[in-house]
Amino acid sequence: MDILDGVDLQRFNTLAIPARADHYVRVEHPDELQAILQHAQAQQWPVLILGGGSNTVFSGDFHGLVLHLAIAGIEAQPSEDSVLLRVGAGENWDQLVRHCLAQGWYGLENLIAIPGSVGAAPVQNIGAYGVELASVLVAVEGWDMERGETRTLSAEDCRLSYRDSVFKHALKDRFIISHVHLRLTTRPEVNCGYPALAEALPEGRAPTPQLVAETIAGIRHSKLPDPADIPNAGSFFKNPIVEQSKQAELLSRFPKMPGWPMADGRVKLAAGWLVDQAGWKGARAGGVGVYERQALVLINPERCSGEELLRFAGRITDDVRAKFGVSLEIEPRVY
Ligand code: FAD
Ligand code: NAP
Repeated sequence: MDILDGVDLQRFNTLAIPARADHYVRVEHPDELQAILQHAQAQQWPVLILGGGSNTVFSGDFHGLVLHLAIAGIEAQPSEDSVLLRVGAGENWDQLVRHCLAQGWYGLENLIAIPGSVGAAPVQNIGAYGVELASVLVAVEGWDMERGETRTLSAEDCRLSYRDSVFKHALKDRFIISHVHLRLTTRPEVNCGYPALAEALPEGRAPTPQLVAETIAGIRHSKLPDPADIPNAGSFFKNPIVEQSKQAELLSRFPKMPGWPMADGRVKLAAGWLVDQAGWKGARAGGVGVYERQALVLINPERCSGEELLRFAGRITDDVRAKFGVSLEIEPRVY
C-alpha cells in the first residue's frame, strides 16, 4: 500500500482544476482494497473514488483519501454469436471501444471517444448518439465499503436510467466498482437512428459498426474541445426532464424549443439550447467560459479554481431559471 500525501490533483481531472488531496493511492489490484479501506477508516479519512477525472469537479482541496482506480485487464468469453467481457475498472473506455471493434465485438461503437475509465461508465450510465451503457451491461463487481465485502450486482441492481444509476443514490460513495461485465454481439448490427448521426453518415454506403464509430468520432472531434488542449468535463449540465404541461407552457413562448418524450411520459429538454438562448454560448468570465461550438460545455482554459468555475455555472443556471423557469442541474460530480 503506497499512500502519498499532499498530491496535486490537477493532472487527474480533465478540467485541470488545481486542487490537492491530503492522501492519494493508486489501486492496481482489487485485493489491495480491503487493507487500504481499513487504514482509511482507522484514520477517519473520507474516501473519494476517482477514475479518469472527466466527470469530476473539485470545489477545493480534498481532505481525505483519493482512491485512484487503475485495475487493468480485459477477459473475453466467446459464445455462439456474442462475447461476455469482464473488464477492469481502470481500463480506458475509448480504448476498450476501439479494441472491441477491432475484435469484431459490437455494441459499443456509438459510445466511442467518451473520455474516462470503464469503472465510471455505469455510474452515470454513459450515453451518446442514441445508445446507453444499459444496452450492454450485464453486471458490476466491486467492494461494498459499508458491508466490508465484495459483491456482484446485476444490471438490474444497478438501476440504470437516463445518465443515472444506484451509484449516484443508495450506493453513492459506498461501492467501488472493480470490474464491469458486458455482453457484446458478433453480429455487425448498427444503431444509426440518432438524427445527427444519420445526417453525417455518407450516402450510398451501408453503415457498418466501423463506419458508425468513425463518423461519430469525427462529429465529436469537430464539436467538442479536447481536454488536453482546453480543459473541460464534457456536458456541464444535465438535460432537464420536465412535465408535459411545462413543455406546453414553454412552447407557447418559444415555439422552436426542442424536446423529446421520455418513457415515463415526461419530456427531455435540451440544456444546451436553453444555455444558448439565455445568451451564454461562447461567453467568458475571468479564465472560464462556455465553449463557442457547444453551449453545454464549460471550459477552463486558464486552469482556474473549481470555486470560480462553479460561481460562473451558477450565473448561467440563474439566468436559465429566470428566463425559462427551468432549474439546470450540474452533471459532473462536485467534491
Ligand atoms: P471520474 O470523473 O473519475 O468519476 C466520475 C464519478 O464516478 C465520480 O463520482 C467517481 O467517484 C465515480 N467513479 C469513478 N470510478 C469509479 C469506480 N471504479 N467505482 C465507483 N465509482 C466510480 N459522458 C457521457 O455519458 N456521454 C458522453 O458522450 C460524454 N462525452 C464527454 C466528452 C468530453 C470531452 C468529456 C470531458 C466528458 C464526457 N462525458 C460524457 C463525461 C465523462 O467522460 C463520463 O461520465 C465518464 O464515464 C467519466 O469517467 P471518469 O473515469 O473520468 O470518471
Ligand atoms: P446534439 O446532437 O447536438 O443534440 C443536442 C441534445 O438533443 C442532446 O443532448 C440529445 O440528448 C438531444 N437529442 C437530439 N436528438 C435527439 C433524439 N432524436 N432523441 C432524443 N434526444 C435527442 O448533441 P451533442 O451535444 O452534439 O452530443 C451528441 C451526443 O453525445 C448526445 O447523445 C450527448 O448526450 C453525447 N454527449 C454527452 C456529453 C456528456 O458529457 N454527457 C458530452 C458530449 C456529447 P442526449 O444527450 O440525451 O442524447
